[in-house]
Amino acid sequence: MGIFDKPRLRPQDKREDMPEGMWTKCPSCDAMLHQLDLKQNLNVCPPCGHHFLMGSHERVENLADPGSFEETNADMVSANPLGFANYSEKIEQQRKSSGLNDAVITGRLRIEGMPAMIAVMDFRFFAGSMGSVVGEKITRAIEQATAEKRGVIIISASSGARMQEGMLSLMQMAKTCGALALHAETKLPYISVMTHPTTGGVTASFATIGDVNLAEPKCMIGFAGPRVVKETTHQNLPPGFQTAEFMMEHGLVDDIVARKDLRGKLGKLLAYMLPLPHDLS
Ligand SMILES: [Zn+2]
Repeated sequence: MGIFDKPRLRPQDKREDMPEGMWTKCPSCDAMLHQLDLKQNLNVCPPCGHHFLMGSHERVENLADPGSFEETNADMVSANPLGFANYSEKIEQQRKSSGLNDAVITGRLRIEGMPAMIAVMDFRFFAGSMGSVVGEKITRAIEQATAEKRGVIIISASSGARMQEGMLSLMQMAKTCGALALHAETKLPYISVMTHPTTGGVTASFATIGDVNLAEPKCMIGFAGPRVVKETTHQNLPPGFQTAEFMMEHGLVDDIVARKDLRGKLGKLLAYMLPLPHDLS
């Protein structure tokens, strides 16, 4: 696959001339897909397996044992610490349009009986960018996992650090990784799941340092975009550059897991890696 064939970053894979909310054209195989079929198939194109974006709450619903998810820090919202022009208004708009308070949800859950804390990023909110709320919620989730002897699962989908919070966004990279290091010292597992797209400061921090790094098929994983890399290095990029498959071939990703298989895979990995007994006291 050439670099120009890669799926582009966009919050919704929709054509504007189609009836709202009914049909979606698959960007990979051009099939016209009814929303209900897509939803029943976990937002994966039935003919070709293209993985569309998935909301954070839908992901949790797909992964958690029924009734086991308890959301944490749901009400945390961003301030505008740098006084960045129009940032507060933009946050308000994003909250209204996405129904989310920021670009990650966190909580306790069980997956096939295994206790874990999960953080699921949501690309619909500010392109999944990481500001201080995203970093703080993920850090608190990791710290809770350490205190309660749970595994950590982070599902990433991000355009990188949120520029409107400047250095406060960048410091979340170190903060989340510091919490993961303390979690690792207690021999508890951390499984990272990269989804389309995982880029920038998220790739360069917690997303790629799992004990096991998983990725969804054909998702984009990178730091800078391919055009920037090409212009900086003055080299042609190899075929499939920055896809999950390329990253697996080069050792960054341990396994590529289709969405329908993720729950089973996470359950097995947690059962294997969590210290016994698995029941929380
Ligand atoms: Zn398709």
